[in-house]
Amino acid sequence: PSRKVNPADFIEKPNPMSKIHKVIGVVSGKGGVGKSMVTSMLAVLLNRRGNHTAILDADVTGPSIPKAFGLKQKAMGSEFGLLPVKTNTGIDVMSVNLLLEDETAPVVWRGPVIANTVKQFWTDVIWTDVDYLFVDMPPGTGDVPLTVFQSIPLDGIVIVTSPQELVSMIVAKAVNMAKMMNVPIIGIVENMSYVKCPDCGKAIPVFGESHVDEIAAKFGLKVLCKCPIDPELAKNCDVGLAELANAPWLEAAADVVEKHNK
Ligand code: ADP
Repeated sequence: PSRKVNPADFIEKPNPMSKIHKVIGVVSGKGGVGKSMVTSMLAVLLNRRGNHTAILDADVTGPSIPKAFGLKQKAMGSEFGLLPVKTNTGIDVMSVNLLLEDETAPVVWRGPVIANTVKQFWTDVIWTDVDYLFVDMPPGTGDVPLTVFQSIPLDGIVIVTSPQELVSMIVAKAVNMAKMMNVPIIGIVENMSYVKCPDCGKAIPVFGESHVDEIAAKFGLKVLCKCPIDPELAKNCDVGLAELANAPWLEAAADVVEKHNK
Protein backbone atom coordinates (compact mmCIF):
# COMPACT_ATOMS: atom_id res chain seq x y z
CA PRO A 1 0.00 0.00 0.00
CA SER A 2 1.38 3.40 -0.87
CA ARG A 3 1.11 6.36 1.42
CA LYS A 4 1.10 9.79 -0.13
CA VAL A 5 4.17 11.70 1.04
CA ASN A 6 3.39 15.20 2.14
CA PRO A 7 6.46 17.43 1.66
CA ALA A 8 5.36 19.50 4.64
CA ASP A 9 6.07 16.47 6.87
CA PHE A 10 9.79 17.17 6.53
CA ILE A 11 9.64 20.71 7.91
CA GLU A 12 11.73 21.11 11.04
CA LYS A 13 10.79 23.01 14.18
CA PRO A 14 12.86 26.11 14.96
CA ASN A 15 14.75 26.55 18.24
CA PRO A 16 12.04 27.03 20.92
CA MET A 17 13.60 30.38 21.84
CA SER A 18 13.42 31.71 18.28
CA LYS A 19 10.79 34.23 17.28
CA ILE A 20 10.62 34.92 13.55
CA HIS A 21 7.91 36.83 11.74
CA LYS A 22 8.78 36.02 8.08
CA VAL A 23 11.26 33.68 6.40
CA ILE A 24 12.30 34.66 2.87
CA GLY A 25 14.43 32.34 0.71
CA VAL A 26 16.69 33.80 -1.98
CA VAL A 27 17.43 31.35 -4.79
CA SER A 28 19.39 31.27 -8.05
CA GLY A 29 20.12 28.79 -10.82
CA LYS A 30 23.88 28.89 -10.41
CA GLY A 31 26.62 30.62 -8.41
CA GLY A 32 27.95 34.07 -9.19
CA VAL A 33 24.75 35.80 -10.30
CA GLY A 34 24.54 37.97 -7.18
CA LYS A 35 22.26 35.93 -4.91
CA SER A 36 24.33 36.79 -1.81
CA MET A 37 24.50 40.46 -2.79
CA VAL A 38 20.70 40.58 -3.16
CA THR A 39 20.23 38.72 0.16
CA SER A 40 22.63 41.09 1.97
CA MET A 41 21.15 44.25 0.50
CA LEU A 42 17.52 43.23 1.12
CA ALA A 43 18.48 42.61 4.76
CA VAL A 44 20.28 45.99 4.89
CA LEU A 45 17.42 47.94 3.25
CA LEU A 46 14.70 46.43 5.45
CA ASN A 47 16.90 46.94 8.52
CA ARG A 48 17.30 50.63 7.59
CA ARG A 49 13.51 50.88 7.55
CA GLY A 50 13.42 49.83 11.20
CA ASN A 51 12.89 46.07 10.86
CA HIS A 52 15.06 43.58 12.72
CA THR A 53 16.53 41.49 9.92
CA ALA A 54 18.69 38.37 9.94
CA ILE A 55 20.51 36.17 7.43
CA LEU A 56 20.81 32.40 7.52
CA ASP A 57 23.69 31.66 5.13
CA ALA A 58 22.67 28.32 3.61
CA ASP A 59 25.19 28.68 0.78
CA VAL A 60 27.57 26.44 2.72
CA THR A 61 30.17 25.82 0.02
CA GLY A 62 30.35 29.50 -0.97
CA PRO A 63 29.52 31.41 2.18
CA SER A 64 29.98 35.09 1.32
CA ILE A 65 27.67 36.79 3.83
CA PRO A 66 30.20 37.19 6.70
CA LYS A 67 32.65 38.78 4.27
CA ALA A 68 30.06 41.26 2.95
CA PHE A 69 29.50 42.46 6.53
CA GLY A 70 33.15 42.26 7.62
CA LEU A 71 32.37 39.81 10.42
CA LYS A 72 35.53 38.63 12.15
CA GLN A 73 34.22 37.20 15.41
CA LYS A 74 33.06 33.59 15.75
CA ALA A 75 29.56 32.48 16.71
CA MET A 76 29.17 31.35 20.32
CA GLY A 77 27.08 28.60 21.81
CA SER A 78 24.86 28.87 24.86
CA GLU A 79 22.96 26.39 26.97
CA PHE A 80 19.90 26.93 24.76
CA GLY A 81 21.49 27.01 21.33
CA LEU A 82 23.85 28.75 18.96
CA LEU A 83 23.88 32.55 18.95
CA PRO A 84 24.11 34.44 15.65
CA VAL A 85 26.76 37.13 15.20
CA LYS A 86 25.50 40.72 15.03
CA THR A 87 26.68 43.12 12.34
CA ASN A 88 27.42 46.79 13.14
CA THR A 89 23.83 47.79 12.44
CA GLY A 90 22.30 44.82 14.29
CA ILE A 91 21.61 42.29 11.55
CA ASP A 92 21.89 38.73 12.95
CA VAL A 93 23.98 36.34 10.85
CA MET A 94 24.71 32.61 10.97
CA SER A 95 27.12 31.01 8.51
CA VAL A 96 29.61 28.12 8.48
CA ASN A 97 32.34 30.72 8.20
CA LEU A 98 31.38 31.95 11.68
CA LEU A 99 31.96 28.45 13.05
CA LEU A 100 35.09 27.23 11.23
CA GLU A 101 38.44 28.04 12.85
CA ASP A 102 40.01 28.67 9.46
CA GLU A 103 37.52 30.36 7.20
CA THR A 104 39.70 29.86 4.15
CA ALA A 105 39.48 26.08 4.57
CA PRO A 106 37.33 24.77 1.72
CA VAL A 107 34.15 23.02 2.78
CA VAL A 108 34.38 19.65 1.05
CA TRP A 109 31.35 18.05 2.59
CA ARG A 110 28.90 15.73 0.95
CA GLY A 111 25.35 16.87 0.24
CA PRO A 112 23.66 15.31 3.30
CA VAL A 113 26.21 16.89 5.67
CA ILE A 114 25.67 20.29 4.06
CA ALA A 115 21.90 19.93 4.22
CA ASN A 116 22.13 18.88 7.86
CA THR A 117 24.27 21.87 8.76
CA VAL A 118 21.68 24.20 7.25
CA LYS A 119 18.92 22.37 9.10
CA GLN A 120 20.79 23.02 12.34
CA PHE A 121 21.03 26.73 11.52
CA TRP A 122 17.25 26.61 11.66
CA THR A 123 16.71 24.19 14.58
CA ASP A 124 19.64 25.11 16.87
CA VAL A 125 20.24 28.82 16.34
CA ILE A 126 18.37 31.26 18.57
CA TRP A 127 16.83 33.84 16.23
CA THR A 128 15.57 36.48 18.65
CA ASP A 129 12.63 38.65 17.60
CA VAL A 130 13.45 38.67 13.91
CA ASP A 131 11.05 40.45 11.56
CA TYR A 132 12.62 39.10 8.34
CA LEU A 133 14.97 36.14 8.19
CA PHE A 134 16.59 35.89 4.76
CA VAL A 135 17.89 32.48 3.74
CA ASP A 136 20.76 32.68 1.22
CA MET A 137 19.96 29.34 -0.43
CA PRO A 138 22.54 27.00 -1.97
CA PRO A 139 22.55 27.73 -5.73
CA GLY A 140 20.75 25.48 -8.17
CA THR A 141 17.88 23.07 -7.88
CA GLY A 142 19.77 19.93 -6.86
CA ASP A 143 19.58 17.77 -3.78
CA VAL A 144 20.95 20.27 -1.29
CA PRO A 145 18.67 23.22 -2.11
CA LEU A 146 15.74 20.82 -2.25
CA THR A 147 16.47 19.47 1.24
CA VAL A 148 16.82 23.01 2.56
CA PHE A 149 13.54 23.89 0.89
CA GLN A 150 11.92 20.97 2.64
CA SER A 151 13.27 21.61 6.11
CA ILE A 152 12.77 25.37 6.56
CA PRO A 153 9.23 26.77 6.38
CA LEU A 154 9.68 29.59 3.86
CA ASP A 155 7.00 32.28 3.60
CA GLY A 156 8.15 33.27 0.14
CA ILE A 157 11.04 33.13 -2.26
CA VAL A 158 12.89 35.67 -4.38
CA ILE A 159 14.54 34.35 -7.56
CA VAL A 160 17.78 36.05 -8.65
CA THR A 161 18.75 35.72 -12.31
CA SER A 162 21.13 37.40 -14.69
CA PRO A 163 20.79 37.97 -18.45
CA GLN A 164 23.62 35.50 -19.22
CA GLU A 165 21.60 32.56 -18.03
CA LEU A 166 18.93 30.26 -19.40
CA VAL A 167 16.43 32.16 -17.33
CA SER A 168 13.41 30.28 -18.59
CA MET A 169 14.72 26.93 -17.39
CA ILE A 170 15.84 28.29 -14.03
CA VAL A 171 12.53 29.97 -13.37
CA ALA A 172 10.63 26.82 -14.41
CA LYS A 173 12.65 24.74 -11.94
CA ALA A 174 12.24 27.26 -9.12
CA VAL A 175 8.50 27.42 -9.79
CA ASN A 176 8.30 23.61 -9.58
CA MET A 177 10.19 23.48 -6.29
CA ALA A 178 8.05 26.25 -4.84
CA LYS A 179 4.82 24.58 -5.96
CA MET A 180 5.88 21.29 -4.45
CA MET A 181 6.38 22.98 -1.08
CA ASN A 182 3.44 25.32 -1.50
CA VAL A 183 5.64 28.40 -1.08
CA PRO A 184 4.69 31.56 -2.97
CA ILE A 185 7.23 33.18 -5.27
CA ILE A 186 7.49 36.87 -4.39
CA GLY A 187 9.18 37.75 -7.67
CA ILE A 188 12.32 37.86 -9.77
CA VAL A 189 15.28 40.18 -9.33
CA GLU A 190 17.34 40.50 -12.47
CA ASN A 191 20.93 41.32 -11.55
CA MET A 192 23.77 42.60 -13.74
CA SER A 193 21.15 43.79 -16.24
CA TYR A 194 23.22 46.67 -17.59
CA VAL A 195 26.04 49.03 -16.82
CA LYS A 196 25.48 52.76 -16.76
CA CYS A 197 28.06 54.72 -18.76
CA PRO A 198 29.73 57.09 -16.27
CA ASP A 199 30.08 59.74 -19.01
CA CYS A 200 26.77 59.79 -20.85
CA GLY A 201 24.52 57.80 -18.50
CA LYS A 202 23.46 55.39 -21.24
CA ALA A 203 22.53 51.88 -20.08
CA ILE A 204 24.69 49.27 -21.79
CA PRO A 205 23.31 45.71 -21.69
CA VAL A 206 26.68 43.96 -21.22
CA PHE A 207 25.26 40.44 -21.24
CA GLY A 208 22.78 41.06 -24.04
CA GLU A 209 19.11 41.92 -24.06
CA SER A 210 17.10 40.77 -21.10
CA HIS A 211 14.22 38.32 -21.51
CA VAL A 212 13.12 38.43 -17.90
CA ASP A 213 9.89 40.35 -18.57
CA GLU A 214 8.60 37.78 -21.09
CA ILE A 215 9.57 34.88 -18.88
CA ALA A 216 8.04 36.42 -15.77
CA ALA A 217 4.81 37.04 -17.70
CA LYS A 218 4.79 33.44 -18.92
CA PHE A 219 4.90 32.16 -15.32
CA GLY A 220 2.67 34.90 -13.93
CA LEU A 221 5.48 36.31 -11.79
CA LYS A 222 6.49 39.85 -10.91
CA VAL A 223 9.84 41.36 -11.93
CA LEU A 224 10.85 43.11 -8.71
CA CYS A 225 13.71 45.11 -10.20
CA LYS A 226 16.61 45.15 -12.65
CA CYS A 227 19.92 45.87 -10.97
CA PRO A 228 22.85 47.37 -12.86
CA ILE A 229 26.44 46.26 -12.48
CA ASP A 230 27.63 48.78 -9.93
CA PRO A 231 31.38 48.87 -9.17
CA GLU A 232 30.77 50.88 -5.99
CA LEU A 233 28.41 48.21 -4.67
CA ALA A 234 30.84 45.42 -5.54
CA LYS A 235 33.60 47.26 -3.69
CA ASN A 236 31.51 47.79 -0.57
CA CYS A 237 30.33 44.17 -0.51
CA ASP A 238 33.82 42.81 -1.09
CA VAL A 239 35.46 44.81 1.72
CA GLY A 240 32.79 44.15 4.32
CA LEU A 241 30.88 47.44 4.07
CA ALA A 242 27.56 46.17 2.70
CA GLU A 243 25.83 48.22 5.38
CA LEU A 244 27.18 51.45 3.90
CA ALA A 245 26.26 50.53 0.34
CA ASN A 246 23.51 52.13 -1.69
CA ALA A 247 21.28 50.02 -3.89
CA PRO A 248 18.40 52.33 -4.84
CA TRP A 249 17.06 49.97 -7.52
CA LEU A 250 16.55 47.27 -4.89
CA GLU A 251 14.21 49.51 -2.85
CA ALA A 252 11.27 48.45 -5.05
CA ALA A 253 12.08 44.79 -4.34
CA ALA A 254 12.39 45.58 -0.62
CA ASP A 255 8.91 47.21 -0.72
CA VAL A 256 7.33 44.06 -2.10
CA VAL A 257 9.19 41.78 0.34
CA GLU A 258 8.20 44.00 3.28
CA LYS A 259 4.52 43.80 2.36
CA HIS A 260 4.57 40.12 1.43
CA ASN A 261 1.96 38.02 3.16
CA LYS A 262 1.93 34.32 2.48
P1 ADP B 1 26.22 34.44 -5.73
O1 ADP B 1 25.75 34.55 -4.32
O2 ADP B 1 25.09 34.31 -6.72
O3 ADP B 1 27.27 33.40 -5.93
P2 ADP B 1 27.51 37.00 -5.22
O4 ADP B 1 26.39 37.77 -4.60
O5 ADP B 1 28.54 36.44 -4.31
O6 ADP B 1 26.91 35.84 -6.14
O7 ADP B 1 28.15 37.91 -6.35
C1 ADP B 1 29.31 37.50 -7.06
C2 ADP B 1 30.25 38.70 -7.20
O8 ADP B 1 29.64 39.69 -8.02
C3 ADP B 1 30.58 39.39 -5.88
O9 ADP B 1 31.90 39.83 -5.92
C4 ADP B 1 29.62 40.58 -5.83
O10 ADP B 1 30.11 41.67 -5.08
C5 ADP B 1 29.53 40.93 -7.32
N1 ADP B 1 28.22 41.52 -7.67
C6 ADP B 1 27.00 40.98 -7.51
N2 ADP B 1 26.04 41.80 -7.98
C7 ADP B 1 26.67 42.91 -8.45
C8 ADP B 1 26.23 44.13 -9.05
N3 ADP B 1 24.94 44.37 -9.28
N4 ADP B 1 27.19 45.04 -9.38
C9 ADP B 1 28.48 44.78 -9.17
N5 ADP B 1 28.95 43.66 -8.62
C10 ADP B 1 28.06 42.72 -8.25
